Amino acid sequence: MKNKLLWALAACLILTATACRNSAEPSAAPPAGLAQPDSTGTASSPASSNAIDQAAQAQPPQAGQGGPQTGQAAVPPAGQDKQQQAAAEKPAPKLYKLNAKSYDIVPIDPEATSKKVVLLTFDDGPKDKDMLEPLLDTLDKHHAKAIFFVNGYRVKQHPELLKLIQERGQTIGNHSWDHIDLKKEGEEKVDQQIGDVQAIVKEATGSSPQFFRPPFGSGGDIVRAKVKEENMLFMTWSNGSKDWEMSTKSNDPDKVVANVLEQLRPGSNILMHELPWTVKALDKLLTELEGKEYGFVDPSSIDIGL
Ligand SMILES: [Zn+2]
Repeated sequence: MKNKLLWALAACLILTATACRNSAEPSAAPPAGLAQPDSTGTASSPASSNAIDQAAQAQPPQAGQGGPQTGQAAVPPAGQDKQQQAAAEKPAPKLYKLNAKSYDIVPIDPEATSKKVVLLTFDDGPKDKDMLEPLLDTLDKHHAKAIFFVNGYRVKQHPELLKLIQERGQTIGNHSWDHIDLKKEGEEKVDQQIGDVQAIVKEATGSSPQFFRPPFGSGGDIVRAKVKEENMLFMTWSNGSKDWEMSTKSNDPDKVVANVLEQLRPGSNILMHELPWTVKALDKLLTELEGKEYGFVDPSSIDIGL
């Protein structure tokens, strides 16, 4: 009788321990690729948006540690062992560099790497979850990566959207705090406009941007020096979608697609914005680019030359 009880107790303990271990795995080591739709889902409720807000402000180091891993989301399957996970977390190999005159993206080794690629970029956000989420969904649908060049004042208004960009495995770039013409400004103002964005992005995500694009493509020596000091790569663009010339009253998503295709060439550095007509255009644009056998450069594979 006593033995039976002991066996029952032992069996119970084993079962509980197993259950604990099993239920702990998914949350302790989330496979990045799979966790993404969930984390997006939870972020959409106002309560958890607030929680993300607070977490972003109150706990930058913790938030940051999770970030790059999720960002490496090269779709690792569920149940991968720790070795595979470690491999997935390695930094992407540097395959491309920037042509500093044309701002095209070119292969470092043209014999080993395809030059038929484009770099996708979205400026002036993060503005609105209703635009950002469909953009991210469309990028995911096409397994495409992009740089989101953000403004500091918008990040301050929506740190949770900045986190969303990071959680969905996309790259964050610096586009100045106030979206002003930096070429007209002195050193102190330039330092603040660029440096404050580095700081707020680091606070929210745990890492500072490595890419910089000046508003209006307007940068001078002071801007370039500051960008270098902050270990960033300076770029404007080589293919303008002209989505910024459209308005709520007068816009045409098909024209956004046509504008990009007209200027398309290997290495095109495509400038788009977080705007409703661009959100509508993106799926068609990416489908057209794929049809022409263009690939999408992962920004993390661009050598920033440091
Ligand atoms: Zn801009």
